[in-house]
Amino acid sequence: MVITLVIMIDAMPKKYITEESTPYLFNFGKDQKESWIDPLFAFRGIETTFFTGKWPTSHGVWTEYELNNFSDKRALDLTYSKIINLTDLLYEDNLMSITRYLINRYIYNKATYNSGINLIPSHLTNYFTLTQNRSIFDMPDVNSCPTLFNQLTKSGIKYSITLPAKIGGDQASFQKILKNIEKKDEFNLYKIGILDKKGHKYGPDTKYFHLTLKQIDNNIKELVTKAEKYSETNVIIFSDHGMAPVNKRIDLFTILKPLKYEPLRDYLFFIDSTMVRFWFKDEKIHSYFRELLNKFTFGHCLTIDEYDILKIPRDPKYGQLVFVLDEGYIFHPDFFHKNSVMKGMHGYAYPINKEYFPFIMTTRNITLNEPDKLKVDFIDIYKIMLDSCSGKYN
Ligand SMILES: [Zn+2]
Repeated sequence: MVITLVIMIDAMPKKYITEESTPYLFNFGKDQKESWIDPLFAFRGIETTFFTGKWPTSHGVWTEYELNNFSDKRALDLTYSKIINLTDLLYEDNLMSITRYLINRYIYNKATYNSGINLIPSHLTNYFTLTQNRSIFDMPDVNSCPTLFNQLTKSGIKYSITLPAKIGGDQASFQKILKNIEKKDEFNLYKIGILDKKGHKYGPDTKYFHLTLKQIDNNIKELVTKAEKYSETNVIIFSDHGMAPVNKRIDLFTILKPLKYEPLRDYLFFIDSTMVRFWFKDEKIHSYFRELLNKFTFGHCLTIDEYDILKIPRDPKYGQLVFVLDEGYIFHPDFFHKNSVMKGMHGYAYPINKEYFPFIMTTRNITLNEPDKLKVDFIDIYKIMLDSCSGKYN
């Protein structure tokens, strides 16, 4: 029997793979197969794309948060925003977002997922809701696009999923995958989460987390060796996005404050780190903002054509106007960070530097891309995973 071992590394650009920091991965890529992955301009939608094999224009998931349609009663609950307001007193970002999460989970009985991991200004918090309120691993389909796990179940393929542990971090989940691999399930997914945090905090300069990379590399080596001892193994290792250095910060609150139009009265806005999305009361205000934003040199407003090029769902719940930043800029503060300053960021509409792109590596028997393609697309990864456990590469 051949088993499939998928190792998904959050926020690992190709640049991190070096002979010094990650010798096992470095040689794996050389001896086996490797390729760039074409980055996808999506947030929550990236994971949804490679576990449904459909672009965001089909499965409909793009950002973490969308405009609330007010079917949720919480939106009308003013005490909710007052309680959330109190969390602002905590000052430290992690403490604030964890407290919000606990309020959502235990007072409002809301969060089965990552609800509340945000720092949306408290007076705006009722206006936004999670785009995908459950983990992709618990969903049979996303807007009628079946997930990989649904397909596996239908085909009678046994699988295990090992995600970053909430307590004990990556080392705890590593012990878990070592146990899971002993079960010899046909498909095994292992997600490594730590690099996203490190990359945001320090930027993609690996000297600050050389030891973390070494640890990850050792763990992968131990895991693959163990899997191969039990059974013939197809190994698929990939990252979901890269990480680019941040050079400049834009304070959007300061830009918006002196304008003649006011938030809530005239418009709503949501600041993701690399873009801002607006909803307007009327067309006149919409035009005013488009004209104002297009004067800035650090980004631009998305055109209708770009929605198709970038595979963004054309749904007003994601904003009537979207302004995207050029690589290297971030909005600070945004609706996820208030005091902590990010030195690395991903999620740019047009990433430029290939060094910071995501990558994929597989064992040699797997077909990585069609002969006419120089890179792998996220929807190809779905096919690679499914083909591997359907016996195509045995
Ligand atoms: Zn991140």
